[in-house]
Amino acid sequence: MKGFTSLKNVQLELANSSLSCIELVNYYLNEIEKQKKLNVFLETFEISAKAQAQQVDAKRKEGKAGKLAGLIISIKDNICYQGHKLSASSKMLEGFESLYSSTVVERLLKEDAIIIGRTNCDEFAMGSSNENSYYGVVKNPLNINKVAGGSSGGAAASVAAGMCMAALGSDTGGSIRQPASFTGTIGFKPTYGRVSRHGLIAFGSSFDQIGTFTKNVEDASLISEVMAGSDAFDSTASKKEVPLYSKSIDSLQGKKLKIAYFDCYVNHEGIDPEVKKRTIEIIERLRAEGHQVDEVKFDFLDQIVPTYYVLTTAEASSNLARYDGIHFGYRSPNATDLESTYVKSRSEGFGKEVKRRIMLGTYVLSAGYYDAYYTKAQKVRRLVRDCTKEVFEKYDFIISPTSPHTAFDINAQKDDQIKMYLEDIFTVQANLAGIPAISLPLGENEEKMPFGIQLMASAFDEEKLFAFSKELVNKFSLISA
Ligand code: GLN
Repeated sequence: MKGFTSLKNVQLELANSSLSCIELVNYYLNEIEKQKKLNVFLETFEISAKAQAQQVDAKRKEGKAGKLAGLIISIKDNICYQGHKLSASSKMLEGFESLYSSTVVERLLKEDAIIIGRTNCDEFAMGSSNENSYYGVVKNPLNINKVAGGSSGGAAASVAAGMCMAALGSDTGGSIRQPASFTGTIGFKPTYGRVSRHGLIAFGSSFDQIGTFTKNVEDASLISEVMAGSDAFDSTASKKEVPLYSKSIDSLQGKKLKIAYFDCYVNHEGIDPEVKKRTIEIIERLRAEGHQVDEVKFDFLDQIVPTYYVLTTAEASSNLARYDGIHFGYRSPNATDLESTYVKSRSEGFGKEVKRRIMLGTYVLSAGYYDAYYTKAQKVRRLVRDCTKEVFEKYDFIISPTSPHTAFDINAQKDDQIKMYLEDIFTVQANLAGIPAISLPLGENEEKMPFGIQLMASAFDEEKLFAFSKELVNKFSLISA
């Protein structure tokens, strides 16, 4: 048996009785074991995955299997699964076990998906290279000297390396799309509020969304339709009805669309020439096919990354206050009283980048600086939202590269914070504006390293986004799935 590229194929084989879910689980556990040196999984859930596989196999025999029967999926180490460990790749939560399951996990299990394990990530999802993990860097399966991106580096690598069929990640500023770009996978972030955040360890609560890594657009659309929708446990989860994305995936075939691109993204000074060339080539080909593709002005290029970092660090400093050695998390054995319990537990439990962000966040929220930074950034966020919305009054999609470059070498920019923060230059707009976005593996450089093309759509326009993504992958994919 070799790795599968789509759930549809797996379900066909399951239906032919030539395959069982238990065999699938064994196959993928073996793949994970064989590729251990990539440091992708923090833990496999062998016992529960096998138990679930047995149950799904029994349900299949009765003709009662759910939509995701046969899907072997990994979850990022910041998504709760009852009775399973969860650490946000931090020493702070080492040994912690989830007391309940996240809404997304419950919905996946209900449709008979099988969760194979939890994947490595940047500590508390803060980073762009997975180098901030307490458990070490994830190696890119396509070139082990390079990073897999971050913060969902393990999730991306788990799919790219064929260790599972799909993965869940979280995206606060690009943490699904950038690693998808670096690993040649499809990374999708839904509209803010489309998917419940209940049971996701909070980083920037007004930005965070759970999304998918897959090898094809159909699987992304199907998994997303299962996860999306209102939830009594998350008041920010929208009550809007969820369309069956997978059913309308061919609805844009042959349709002529209006697509915008920003000159300042495509001609950005930091962009790799090969990434730029391919982006322009795709724009030209879309034009040649009769789509209207226009260059549109975007005035906030210089403001989006600083705005993102002011707001997310502010939210993070508040969200991470609960890890104090008393309510939650690591407690320092060197503490002697209440104050030293707080100070030592937090100093020893958090890594460098997390501490940097907590300090930055408390600074921008402090009396005297609040208006100058936090309130100002909120205002800029509103402007970015408004001007993004305006673009969608005239256009169906915004197209851009996902990242300015392909995966970089491990350790190459570890100590250059500004460079690291600029990794998010093309991705944070979607999070600031709360809109859905996807990275599609449509580019490859001379060294055969992949890069993604990003599509952004209007809020709650996932249906259209998936349908056009499928068109683009069919036309422009260089990488065989
Ligand atoms: N690279 C960004 C950051 O470090 C994105 C993180 C994310 O989306 N979780 O904040």
